[in-house]
Formats: sequence, structure tokens, C-alpha cells
Amino acid sequence: MNPLWKVELVSLGPLAPPVLRLLRQDLATALRHPVWIAPETLDISPAFDPGRRQYNALSSLQLLLSLAPKPETLLLGITSYDLFLPVFTHVFGSAQLGGRVAVASLFRLRPEYAGDPSDPVLLRHRVLVESIHELGHLLGLVHCPVSWCAMAPSRLPEHIDLKDAALCPQCASRTGLKISRKGVSE
Ligand SMILES: [Zn+2]
Ligand SMILES: [Zn+2]
Repeated sequence: MNPLWKVELVSLGPLAPPVLRLLRQDLATALRHPVWIAPETLDISPAFDPGRRQYNALSSLQLLLSLAPKPETLLLGITSYDLFLPVFTHVFGSAQLGGRVAVASLFRLRPEYAGDPSDPVLLRHRVLVESIHELGHLLGLVHCPVSWCAMAPSRLPEHIDLKDAALCPQCASRTGLKISRKGVSE
């Protein structure tokens, strides 16, 4: 990966205005890389699966690829709709390992989905950790056994809550990112 890589956030379907603005700010701080927001919203409706009434994550990645990202650009699509992969009931996101495009969904990250009260601070943390996770896959990282590492796998939002918006030292060194937690040496 070109050391000058940057991230571009793409709205996949409509999003509340602050979502991408806050994520851009949080990601730029965490990654110490430039983060941009694509000016246009990409229509996600071609990825809709009428049988499952969810959106196919792989089709969403294809839609992002149709934007023909430049070699140094990692495209991260953000959607408020529910995503699935054929073998799973749902996914929080999906990414091409070592590729250019990834997608993340807010749908199940909202505390309201589990019947809990709205919590913008918690949602912001979940979206940031999930975004770092998918970008980590784009940078070639696989899942990590360190429970607090953003690359640990998660099937429930509560699993994301156990993770930091950071990479463990092993994952960080593989990507060249300097986003390890301070003072942690495991
Ligand atoms: Zn993953
Ligand atoms: Zn790790």
C-alpha cells in the first residue's frame, strides 16, 4: 500500500448529516491519514435482496467498485440499511481483503435496534471501531485474537463495545499504522 493512502467515505443510501462528518473527524484522528467524504450519495437499491429484505454486502462492494477508486484511495461505504452475506444472517460490514472497497452498516449498531435508548456517544464509538475493522481488512489484516483490538471478530454490538478504536501492536505493525493504545504491551 502506498504510504500516502487516504480514505474516502461514501454514503450508500441516505444518512443523517452528522454521521459522515463525525466519522471523518474520528477516523482522521485515529488513523492519522487523510479522510474525505465523497460529494455524492451512491444508490444502494441495486444491492437489495427482496427475498431477505436486506442488502447484499458483496453487491454493495461492487457498487463501490463502480466508482473506480484510485490506487491510493480506500473507499468505505456507510449505510443505514441492514447488510448480509449469503452464509450469515447479517454482517456489520464487509471488505475486500487487501482491496480497495469496504462497507459498514449502522443498522444493528444503533442501541435502538436492541430495544435500548438512543445513545449517540455509544453509536459513534461503534461506527468508528467497525470502520477501523473494515479498513484493517483493506490493509490486509485478518481477524485478531486480542479482545480489545479493532480486528477482533464481532457478531454482536456488545462485542464491538469491548474493543478500542485502536489496533494491537501486532496488527498495527503489519499495517504501519501507529494507532496502538498507549502503555499496552501485550
Ligand atoms: Zn472482519
Ligand atoms: Zn490485533
